[in-house]
Amino acid sequence: MAQQGGVRDPLPPADVAGRLPRLRSLVSEAGCDAFLVSKIENVRYLTGFSGSTAMLLVRPDQALVLTDGRYGEQVREELDAHGVDAEVEVGRVPAQHEAMRRELRGSLRVGLEATAVSWATERDYAALLSSATLVPTRGLVERLRRVKDEGELARIERAADIADIALAQVKHRLLDGISERDLSAELELEMRRRGADGVAFESIVAAGPESAKPHARPSGRMIGEGDLIVIDFGACVEGYRSDMTRTLCIGDPGPRAREIVDAVLAAQRAGVRAVREGARAQDVDQASRSSIEEAGLGAAFLHPTGHGVGLEIHEAPAIAAESADILEAGAVVTVEPGIYLTGLGGARIEDTVLVTADGARPLTKSTKDLTL
Ligand code: ZN
Ligand code: ZN
Repeated sequence: MAQQGGVRDPLPPADVAGRLPRLRSLVSEAGCDAFLVSKIENVRYLTGFSGSTAMLLVRPDQALVLTDGRYGEQVREELDAHGVDAEVEVGRVPAQHEAMRRELRGSLRVGLEATAVSWATERDYAALLSSATLVPTRGLVERLRRVKDEGELARIERAADIADIALAQVKHRLLDGISERDLSAELELEMRRRGADGVAFESIVAAGPESAKPHARPSGRMIGEGDLIVIDFGACVEGYRSDMTRTLCIGDPGPRAREIVDAVLAAQRAGVRAVREGARAQDVDQASRSSIEEAGLGAAFLHPTGHGVGLEIHEAPAIAAESADILEAGAVVTVEPGIYLTGLGGARIEDTVLVTADGARPLTKSTKDLTL
């Protein structure tokens, strides 16, 4: 685990400016001469702009960021800071549309992000850009985002270190008696104190029977001795997230619960062992799944084994039975098998790991011991 000082060290700069040229090759391979980026995480990835609303219009030799008046100053600062060469249009929607029409005059085929544009918006664009053909595309920017560069990895590692430290600091509060909601609040406060910009997603703290629900919401329920306690949380650092689950218990949860936890731990190890460059994501899922099936609990594993993590908490590649993804070195994924038995409780153990040429390097490192 990183030392306390480690999470305060400056992060290496991210190579944001190198990304637009790579996207342009994909846009041209997709048969488009312009591309409109609508998904905000993709705008951030390509420009460094960290606000909540913007679009990015990419043409072969120009780029234009469209945002509203709240972000006029910030967007210019962030583009400058990242050395990204793009024009800026700041204004309300009609002004943005007018700028789009002006910029796209002469473009024949304009790519849209099919999964990020609503039907209504697509109809608006079709009317606005009546001389162009709108081309639905899928996952162009996401394809670039699958392999993390050094700057991205440093931010995910920082988010993972902060979560490790927060759990180590906070988990002993369980011994004094604490509710699910308060434990989750303590974890979140500790992560912010250690330098997180926020949480990676809404934290899960689920104890006793609630732990049998994979995505339970923390309640005011007091966590009791012998409860299985599933804690699933992460930190966010400059947009990049970490994701970790640990299953804990105050005292002894009993033989059946211990069996479940052991089976989950074995399945998590089996999944991580299957991770390496070139591995099929579905084989990683299968490795964890067969391990739980061998323990006779296959039907109680209620979700896919994992997912990519980065600017979004769930992104490509999918570690699932139906996934066609192949793991690339530099991808960051989770391995998180779980077993959930209504009435008794559940267990899940999850690490965020980096895919390497010969295996997986865990980024989340907290102990997997069940008892405190
Ligand atoms: Zn998680
Ligand atoms: Zn996860």
